[in-house]
Amino acid sequence: MKQLLKKLPKIDKFINYPDFNGLNKKLLTKIAKEQIEHLRANILTGKIDSFSQDKLIKMVKKEYQELLKPSLKPLINATGIILHTNMGRSLISKEVLDRASKVICSYSNLEYNQKEGRRGERYEHVSKHLKTLLGVEDVLVVNNNASAVFLVLNTFAKDKEVIVSRGELVEIGGSFRIPEVMANSGAILKEVGATNKTKLSDYECNINENSTMLMKVHKSNYSIEGFSAEVNFNEIKKLATKYNLLDYYDLGSGYIPTLPFNLSNQEEPISKILQSNPSLISFSGDKLFGSVQAGIIAGKKELITKLKKNQLLRMLRVDKITLSILEETIKAYLEENYKLIPTLNMLFTSLEELEKRAKTLAKQIDGCQVVQTTTFMGGGTLPNRSFPSIALQLNGKATTLEKAFREKDIIGRIEDDKFLLDVRCILPEQEEYVVSVAKKVLK
Ligand SMILES: *Cc1c(COP(=O)(O)O)cnc(C)c1O
Repeated sequence: MKQLLKKLPKIDKFINYPDFNGLNKKLLTKIAKEQIEHLRANILTGKIDSFSQDKLIKMVKKEYQELLKPSLKPLINATGIILHTNMGRSLISKEVLDRASKVICSYSNLEYNQKEGRRGERYEHVSKHLKTLLGVEDVLVVNNNASAVFLVLNTFAKDKEVIVSRGELVEIGGSFRIPEVMANSGAILKEVGATNKTKLSDYECNINENSTMLMKVHKSNYSIEGFSAEVNFNEIKKLATKYNLLDYYDLGSGYIPTLPFNLSNQEEPISKILQSNPSLISFSGDKLFGSVQAGIIAGKKELITKLKKNQLLRMLRVDKITLSILEETIKAYLEENYKLIPTLNMLFTSLEELEKRAKTLAKQIDGCQVVQTTTFMGGGTLPNRSFPSIALQLNGKATTLEKAFREKDIIGRIEDDKFLLDVRCILPEQEEYVVSVAKKVLK
């Protein structure tokens, strides 16, 4: 054992082997040290009784390369799910990013009032655009919609009761649960009604001197069918006004233009919800709105002013990266230039167009058929609402194909034991690569 330990290389000498030429010495030292220590431990516990210097060099080199390989990397979404939660929800268009990068890569007027030569307000930048788009008195943008919910509750409902329907105590995933978020914010949850049915009188009966807010939460990722009833926001708003309480609608997602495939007939657009003149609403920036991760709060000016005074805002504030991208998305909305909003662009692509694209791909690949399929929006939006899409159905064992494509960064889906590449979310510039992988895999 002692002999073996003596054979372990000295770190200073080891990192200067010609095999390591061109590699960063400091990083190399870190990795080599770890590997040598590992060997030493294994020798001491008798797990190994020999080692080879060559193998050690190879291992260190491999570790070095592994570490510098990109961890975050692009994938091709052939699932058809546009707002895929695990694959980054909304995409940002190159043009929007180009415009935003001018600000991100330079000093800017983020908090500088150029006209007066003094400190400015970071939240001013998107506020004019958003107010125009939504037609509300004031807005505030925070890190994400979870932050928005937290900030609203902490600001207005600390140690006070907030009335919420039992049918709306949702879990979004990633451990965001309305009851827990409420508890953490300091608000007291007063749950009313039953899981499947809540009536307006349930809200009214539970109003007392400690009530401060009636809150509605969008059932983002499930729906209640059969013997069920919920109160629409307009009525909740009226009841809140009658008792001089605040009303707040956590929309989760939230969208601007009427959606295709009749998807709008069960979900109201933001504009419709705003017609009832709510105290406050909030929604995600990167769900149906199709922009960067953010939480958008909109409503009464005096309430937004109070939110801005909460110390917590500092912890939830957004960076120039968020603000500059968001500004460009909102401008695209103002000009109805939906080409700049990939989420909407993909959702609005017609079946005819998808079929044309699929046929062009299928022509180049032996062993696949163009099929009509259905897909979902995903990302905790439009629960249980499927809509049509077009896919390539590949010949072969579905699970084997799924793995082979996944290893090549193409994520498809299996349906009825068939492997499908839904073309709706495959970007035009990715098509050539998809064809080349399909050819190899199917051979
Ligand atoms: C998605 C969602 C949230 C959380 O929004 P993030 O932007 O993901 O933080 C909160 N409430 C509802 C109802 C949601 O659907």
